[in-house]
Amino acid sequence: MGINTDAIHSGFEDEQYDSLVAPLYQTSTYVQEAPGVNKGYCYTRTGNPTRSSLQSALAKLEGGTHAFSFATGIAAENAIFQVFLKPGDKVVVPYDLYGGTHRLLFSIYEQWQIKVERADFRDPAAVAAASKDAAIVWGESPTNPRLDVYDVPEIIKQIKAASKALIVVDNTFATPLSQKPLDLGADLVLQSVTKYLSGHSDVVQGAVITKDDALAEKLGFIQNGAGGGAAPFDCWLALRGLRSFPIRYKQHCENAQQIAEHLLNVEGVSKTYYPGIKEHETHETAKRVLKYFGGVVALEVEGGLELAKSFVSKLRVFKLAESLGGVKSLACHPASMTHAAVPADERAKIGLSDGLVRLAVGIEDIEDLVADIDQALAAAKAELGVAAS
Ligand SMILES: *Cc1c(COP(=O)(O)O)cnc(C)c1O
Repeated sequence: MGINTDAIHSGFEDEQYDSLVAPLYQTSTYVQEAPGVNKGYCYTRTGNPTRSSLQSALAKLEGGTHAFSFATGIAAENAIFQVFLKPGDKVVVPYDLYGGTHRLLFSIYEQWQIKVERADFRDPAAVAAASKDAAIVWGESPTNPRLDVYDVPEIIKQIKAASKALIVVDNTFATPLSQKPLDLGADLVLQSVTKYLSGHSDVVQGAVITKDDALAEKLGFIQNGAGGGAAPFDCWLALRGLRSFPIRYKQHCENAQQIAEHLLNVEGVSKTYYPGIKEHETHETAKRVLKYFGGVVALEVEGGLELAKSFVSKLRVFKLAESLGGVKSLACHPASMTHAAVPADERAKIGLSDGLVRLAVGIEDIEDLVADIDQALAAAKAELGVAAS
C-alpha cells in the first residue's frame, strides 16, 4: 500500500466493539487469569496496546519491522546510547548536530568517556574513514538549523564498506515521506515524533525503528528495563496525528518553498537556507536524495542579534516558540533558544550566526505567512532605526 493509506490504516483495530478508531488503553496494569497467564500485556511500562498500535504504524511507515516509542525523542536517543555504547566508545556525528543530541553526547555521556568525533558529512569518504573505530555513526539530514542535506545513500554505502559501526539516522526533518534510511541500509532510525509525525504540537514523544530482530530485542529490553516508554495517552494522540501526516507534510513543504523563494527578494535578509532553492549549498544533493525539501526555512537578517530578536518578537501569525513540525507556524532564534547549549565558539564554527532565525513553517494560508514576515521585518527595522530602502 502507499504511504497515505498506511498512515491512515496501520496500527491495531478494535476487536471488541469494532469502533472505527481504536480505544485508548489508559491503564497501568492488566488482570491475569492465573499467575503469568495473560493476553499479552502485564504492565504498561513493559507493554500497552495503544503503544503497540502506534509502534506498528511507525515501523510500517519507516519500512521497519519493529518500533519502540519513548517519552521524548531524546529519551529514544538515550535508549540507543544506553544499549549500544560502552565506556570509552567512539561516536561519529555531523558538525551541524541537533542541540539536544549534542548535550546528551558531549555533556551527559561524558561520564562514560564517550569520544565524540565530528566529521564533514558533505564528504562520504571522510565519514567512512572516521567510522573505522567507531561504535556508532549518527547522521542527521536535513540538519538543523542550516538545512544541509547529505548524500545519505552514499554515506551509508561507504560506512558499510569501511566498518561495522552501527548506523543511526535521525530522520525527524526528512520524515519517511521524503527519505527512508532503513531501505538504504541504516540500522536504526530515530524519530522525534513530537514534530511532523504527531504534528499538532500537543505531545512530546520519540521512537526508534529498525528491521533487525537482534537490535529490536535489545531495544525492547531497554524500553522496559530503563522505563522510558511512551505513555498511552501520548501514543493515542501521536497515532491520531499520524493519520494526516503525509498530507500535512506536503503542505508544510509547499509553504516552506514559497517562503524561501520570497525571502530571496526581501531587503534586509542576507541569506536564506532552504534545500529546495538553487541558492542552497546542498540543493543538488537534496534534489537527488530527498523527495520533499522539508518544512523548515532559516534566514539571516542584516543587523545581527538585535534585529533578529526584534524580528521574531514582532511576528504575529508565526509564534515565538521552540519546536517544529506542528500545523501552527513557529519562529525561533537558535543562538538564544534551541542552540543556547552549544558554546558560542562552536556556534560560530558551524556557521550559526547571531542573526540567524529559524522558521518552522506551518500549514496556514501562504499569503498570511508571507505578509507576517514582511510586516515583522519592517517593524523590527523601524524599532532599531534601520533606514528602509
Ligand atoms: C526535536 C528533535 C529531537 C529531540 O526530540 P524531543 O521529542 O524534543 O525530545 C531530536 N532530533 C531532532 C532533529 C529534533 O528536531
